[in-house]
Amino acid sequence: MTQPPDDAETRRAVPPVICYPTATLPRPDLPLYRAARAGAMKVAERLIPPRDARCFEVAAGQFFRITSVQGPQVGDLNLWNARDLSERFYSGKTRALHGTHLSTGDRMWSTFPALRPMATIVADTLDWYGIDSFGGAVHDVIGTRCDPYTGRLLSGTAYHNCCHSNLTRALATLRGLPLAEAESHVHDVLNVFMCTGFTRDTGQYFMKASPVRPGDYLEFFAEIDLLGALSACPGGDCSAEHSSDAAACHPLLVEVFAPAPGALDSWTPPPVNGYDRSHGL
Ligand SMILES: [Zn+2]
Repeated sequence: MTQPPDDAETRRAVPPVICYPTATLPRPDLPLYRAARAGAMKVAERLIPPRDARCFEVAAGQFFRITSVQGPQVGDLNLWNARDLSERFYSGKTRALHGTHLSTGDRMWSTFPALRPMATIVADTLDWYGIDSFGGAVHDVIGTRCDPYTGRLLSGTAYHNCCHSNLTRALATLRGLPLAEAESHVHDVLNVFMCTGFTRDTGQYFMKASPVRPGDYLEFFAEIDLLGALSACPGGDCSAEHSSDAAACHPLLVEVFAPAPGALDSWTPPPVNGYDRSHGL
């Protein structure tokens, strides 16, 4: 290891600066959303089988809720613009804007060049959890999604019910796409209910048993017309291992709610980002 310089401690003592102060981020009108939700009616529901995924559609201005049923279970969520699959959830930028884990008031942002909120979290029954003594918290945007390629790399296996494959099959089935094309649309997820962090000593990504219990939910307001896909991860509550059939797994419930007519008359979907895309040329 390199010999530390004489002023090493001084350099380490420099205080951090927040990369993206959020004071100028467009704020969601949560009171308006809550008022609209109070008069909303359920219009659809979908049960996601364990170790599998299903797609669901949510129109702009509707709400969707992901609920734990039967037993502790984490879910891997993908979102696309329902009219243009090239606009999809951007985990990395969402992390840069809101931090490693999401909760009420945070938004799921879309890829360039749109970079706009796709969905806003309006309710989170696990918001009490905070950050535990290990540095763990729930609903992360630091993981990717369990996948057969990493399993092959690390242990030589070929497990077909990882979230990546589940999401790929679900999208291919719904849209009638060849598997390879559907796979190219699958992206890094919001890890719903998953409890994760980075170890303090080695900086490694860790998971631990999710605090989610049946009845817990995470609810979103759809800012644009959305196509969603949710995988009930083969890791179950992610207390031990994923990418295998070893963990106890449970279904997840997705419900869609439509506000009463007129409830959102003062609201319009967010426009795409205003940058002119000339990139200095
Ligand atoms: Zn998974």
